[in-house]
Parts: sequence; structure tokens; C-alpha cells
Amino acid sequence: MEKLILQKIKNRFLSIYFMKKYTQEYEEFQWKNKEEIEDIQVKKLKKVLHNAVENVPYYKKLDLGIDFENFTLPELNKFPIVDKKIIRENFKDFCSAKHNGIISHTSGSTGTPFEFKITKESNFFEDLTKFRAWGMGQNYKYKQKDPIIVLRSYSPKDDEPVFKVSKRENYWYLSPFHINEKNLDLYVDFIRNSHAKILRGYPSAIYIFTLLLKEKNIKLSQIRTLITSSEMLLPMYREVIESYWQIPVLDWYGQNERTVTVQQCWAGNYHNNDDYGIIEVDKQNNIIATSLNNFAMPFIRYNTNDKAIPLSSKIDKCPCGRNLSIPFNGIEGRSDDILIKDDGTMIPSINIYTLMHELHFVKQFQIIQKRNKSITLKIVADMDEEKYKLLSKCVIGRLGNVKLDINVVDFIDRNIQTGKMKIIIREK
Ligand SMILES: [Zn+2]
Repeated sequence: MEKLILQKIKNRFLSIYFMKKYTQEYEEFQWKNKEEIEDIQVKKLKKVLHNAVENVPYYKKLDLGIDFENFTLPELNKFPIVDKKIIRENFKDFCSAKHNGIISHTSGSTGTPFEFKITKESNFFEDLTKFRAWGMGQNYKYKQKDPIIVLRSYSPKDDEPVFKVSKRENYWYLSPFHINEKNLDLYVDFIRNSHAKILRGYPSAIYIFTLLLKEKNIKLSQIRTLITSSEMLLPMYREVIESYWQIPVLDWYGQNERTVTVQQCWAGNYHNNDDYGIIEVDKQNNIIATSLNNFAMPFIRYNTNDKAIPLSSKIDKCPCGRNLSIPFNGIEGRSDDILIKDDGTMIPSINIYTLMHELHFVKQFQIIQKRNKSITLKIVADMDEEKYKLLSKCVIGRLGNVKLDINVVDFIDRNIQTGKMKIIIREK
């Protein structure tokens, strides 16, 4: 117990030290010119790759012939692309003999959890990057310790209130599990009392909250920045949220492996945090990520299996003025958000998201696909005979001749542990 308290105090001091040391550097980085950004990135990459070939058995054995004397970005291409399977099978060989790390893992809600190591400082880098990212709104720039409404990450027990305040961080949490008409006044009062100008949460949570506000015609004009993350931001969510709040939704992309993070700015572009990781997009639009912070278990050219929406043309200068690179036009789907057609073809989830967006009567949906490919489609909607027919026709049109059950429900369940709402669940 005493050890635990000591550890907590130590972490607290480390956090203060880190924030003090790096906040300004992180803030300034986004406004540097392209050459300066690349220069810093290449220096960081060199350190990461050097550690890999010196201290990480998997890379040591490969004898990659990296030119550290005349080091440039393309040296990265000498490294092979790796994925979860390769890392899982060679776990020990991917760990640095010199740097310690802590074990972390993916949630594994639909498959086996994936274990890996991250550094002790990983949380601090994550925080620094997030704080910077939350400042990417147009009419309000978030600063550390500003109040922030958090519509995620809090799942109260039955005897606990649906809200809590973390004074140290000035995070005002509202439960994503309890957004309903009965609690609406309480949620609105809580937000007004917080004086927060920023609201962040799961896309589904902000969407459901917005639908309620719209229905009751309640305006919360204090909110100037909306940040979503950790779930797919569906086109139908974005449309409803933006038209109601009259501000753009700024979406964040990252993974538990903490390899790369990307934040949308108010101009709609997805900026890579170039001091955090390097992104490549392959021919199949897979996001290939290289972490610039992980020395304990380097993730180098790691295929995340998440699919990017490629850029239609190169964006030279973002209207927001930042020079952070813009690697893609959005996220098409997470690695586990894929459905299988009757003939075995994999269907990109965006196909279904677009379809549901076009069917205006569908408020929310969840698709569960069994191993035998049969589909249960849960929907929140006012239905009649004609809508049933149209919906079945459209889904079968996309997925082929699979068994389809449509269940009309009042709400879609959230994962009890994470509070996230999964759109696609495929039994593996
Ligand atoms: Zn921008």
C-alpha cells in the first residue's frame, strides 16, 4: 500500500516535471516551418532506429545496413513492415535489451488482446500531444487546466452519481451510459456550471446528447470546440452534431499501441503529430505507423490494419496555418470493423456507414455478424413496413444473400468496461 502511494507521488512529480519541460516545445512545434519539422522528426527517428538495430534482437539479426552517418528519412524504408502477428510471435525479440517498459494491451473486445510494451513516459507524451490537439479549434484555444467536459471514460456504479469532477485536471466527467431525457437537465446544468468551452467524448455519446438537445431545443452556446475519439465518427453523427452546434467536429485518431496520433483541425484537415510518429499509407490504404517515442519496444513500420481515406490531392498549406503533415483524408475503418459478404469478400465498413447515413430514418445502428455470416442488425428508428423492406433490400444489396434479422431497439448497448459503442461486431 505504502509502495503504491509512493509510486503515485513519484508519478505526480514526474508529470509536473514533464509538462514544465516540454509543454512550450510541443506547442511551438506545430507552428514551425516544414523543413524545421522534418529536421526534428528525422533526428528523433534516427535515435529510434539506432536503438532498434543496437538493442532489439529482431532488428539486430536482420543486419539492415542503415546509414547513420548520412541519415535521411528514406532510411526508414530499409526496415520491413511488421504486424500484430509478427510481433506476437516474436514478442521477446522485439523488446529492447536496454530500455524497460510497462506491459500494455489492446482491449481485445472482438479477438485476442494484443500485448506490447510502452515506455513509462508514454502517458506524458500522450497528454502533451492531446493538449496541443485540443487547441485546434477556431474560436477557442484550449489551454492546460481549462475546464473540459468529458463525455466518456466514466462508468459510475449503481450508487454513484452520473457525473464526477477531477479537480486536479479540471475534467468534468459525464457518464456516456446515462444520456437520456430523465438526466438531460442535470447534464445541461453540470455543463453550464463547469464554464467549459470544450466538450470531448465518444462520437456516439456526443451524437445521442445532441439529438436530445435538439429535441428539447436547448442551446449550449458556451461550447466552442468538440473533440471526438476512440470510435468511428460516422457521417450521420458528424452531420447531426455539426448542424446543431454550428462548429466543426474535430476528430482524433490513435491506437492503444501509441504509434501515431492524428488530429483534425478546424479547417477539416487531419494533421499528423509529426513529433509523435511517422505515417505511411500503403497501396491498400493501410496505415503504417512508426512511433518516435517508444524505446522499450519499438514499433517501426507497423501495419495498424486501420484503413485511411487517401488524399485526393496533396494539400500544400492548411488554412489553420499549421505545418504538421496531412497524411490522409480521414479514417475509413478500424481493423476490426469489417463485414464479410456471402461470397467471402470483405466489405469496408464505410460502405455500410454511407448506406445508413442515406437512410435518414435510422438514428443509430449496430451490426453483429456471426461466423456463419448471418447478420443481426439492431436499429434505433421509427419503423413501418415500407422502411423494413427498404432497409432489408439495401443491406442485402451490400452483403449478398446472408440471413438477416432486423431488431428495433430503444438504444444500443455500450461496452461495460470501456463505455464505447461498437458499430460492427464480428464474431471471430
Ligand atoms: Zn489545419
